[in-house]
Amino acid sequence: MKNISKKTKEKASLLLKEGKVIKEVETDKRIHFKVISKETHSVIFDKEKNTWECDCKWGSLREKHCSHILACNLFLERTK
Ligand SMILES: [Zn+2]
Repeated sequence: MKNISKKTKEKASLLLKEGKVIKEVETDKRIHFKVISKETHSVIFDKEKNTWECDCKWGSLREKHCSHILACNLFLERTK
């Protein structure tokens, strides 16, 4: 992941620390997460393509990963 600002990283680790990242369903191809922020966001990790998707406005900009995606990414790394 690139183009991640320090602020986004801090936000993501806070979300994780506060238990706002919830792993919902894992299939062979995808992992579905819920991230509880001001609003609840759905984050999906595609294992085959190795890509992330989030339903917030930042997540739709491909070059930038939002704090929700980053929080889920940290969650995965921690539970490996
Ligand atoms: Zn997002």
